[in-house]
Amino acid sequence: MALALPPLIALYGFATYPVQRATLLWSITYYFLTGLGITAGYHRLWSHRAYSASDPLQAFLMCMGSGAVEGSIHWWARGHRSHHRYTDTDLDPYGAHTGLIWAHLGWMIVKPRRKPGRVDTSDLKMNKFIKFQHRFYVPMILFWGLVFPTIVAGFGWGDWKGGFYFAGIARLVFVHHSTFCINSLAHYLGEASFDNKHSPRDNFITALVTIGEGYHNFHHEFPMDFRNAIFWYQYDPTKWFIWSMFKLGLASNLKVFPENEVNKGRLAMQLKNALEFKETLDYSKPASELPILTWDEFEAEAKKRPLIVVHGFIHDVADFMDEHPGGRALISSRLGRDATTAFEGGIYEHSNAAHNLLSMMRIGVLSGGYEPAKIRPSHIRTRSRTDSGFASRSTSQGSASDSDCVDESTHDEVSHKDGEIARAASQYVPPGEAYDILQHRELGENVKMESTSYGKLF
Ligand SMILES: [Zn+2]
Ligand SMILES: [Zn+2]
Repeated sequence: MALALPPLIALYGFATYPVQRATLLWSITYYFLTGLGITAGYHRLWSHRAYSASDPLQAFLMCMGSGAVEGSIHWWARGHRSHHRYTDTDLDPYGAHTGLIWAHLGWMIVKPRRKPGRVDTSDLKMNKFIKFQHRFYVPMILFWGLVFPTIVAGFGWGDWKGGFYFAGIARLVFVHHSTFCINSLAHYLGEASFDNKHSPRDNFITALVTIGEGYHNFHHEFPMDFRNAIFWYQYDPTKWFIWSMFKLGLASNLKVFPENEVNKGRLAMQLKNALEFKETLDYSKPASELPILTWDEFEAEAKKRPLIVVHGFIHDVADFMDEHPGGRALISSRLGRDATTAFEGGIYEHSNAAHNLLSMMRIGVLSGGYEPAKIRPSHIRTRSRTDSGFASRSTSQGSASDSDCVDESTHDEVSHKDGEIARAASQYVPPGEAYDILQHRELGENVKMESTSYGKLF
């Protein structure tokens, strides 16, 4: 009845009575005041203890919240705590998993199949304002929901009927559906900025219609934060109200999650999304699944088709020669040879896109990773995962006048073995595969990543 009757009375009022300008302004003002009673009072103060409120502020929020006619503070806060603790389960009284209509108002109309999940309400039971409102609930909602908005318009500018129809009833309908949207729309519309395991979402439209409660993914992630919107340009009048009360000395202890932790949550979600996106892309086979060819086998094969070696991988460039932005000639001149130095900047420093594209042309791994005749074994010994495989390779192919040689007697154990995947090749990661590295926390160990801007991106 409390939900069905007001819209009908409001419609009757709109159809039979003119809306005066002053009454319209008062109705909008009272919509925000009673809405704040729910968002700043029922929700952020009493359900989540996101800040402390002085007695005058608590009294104000109790009265305005009563004017929204959404049940007592105790009942509301208890259900809301269950909603957070058991989100998207049958113990969540609004359970968005059961549908938009149910989450919006179905749960209040149909008798719930089961009680909301257990939560701690000991603090609510001790609060004198909550106890008072619980005791005088009916007079409170009648006075603040209907009598007060009517007498303000009546005594103020003589519009008794308008005060009743518009500031009382119609305003109540808007407040109802505005705050109901926190349970429905805020669990459907928008993006999961911090976690997509559950239904809460961040959305500007929802924020507009819920007096700032629209950044609901953030809210479920950091429920004790007095903010819903963390950026200054996001719409959160409830946050602005609480902050103003703080400045006036009426509120204190405004809780804010550390920015570092908030950013960690955001990054985790960005990485998850990136990995999901990566799943949709094609990548070359990993080194372990490619055939291993000796240098001699590579040379023999290169006589039959256009092959080049880069990063210890053998690439078939037949389909690419004419597509090469630098021209066919630059590739042709390196067929049957190791083109790593040229590719890595000796001639032209190729882009991430070029690295990714090249990796799709892999057909094999070169045993040992280099042309054997140009290898000085001592250089292999000095290379480890944290050394630059590319740098040392360039050196070995170039001037080869390093002084970082070590014990030559150990070179047997690191000499080329057939069947062993070239270490340099297996360590090379094209930029497009970077997210795997991030996921496995190998970023710091991967030479290639550190040397590209990808490493700095995250
Ligand atoms: Zn929610
Ligand atoms: Zn909440």
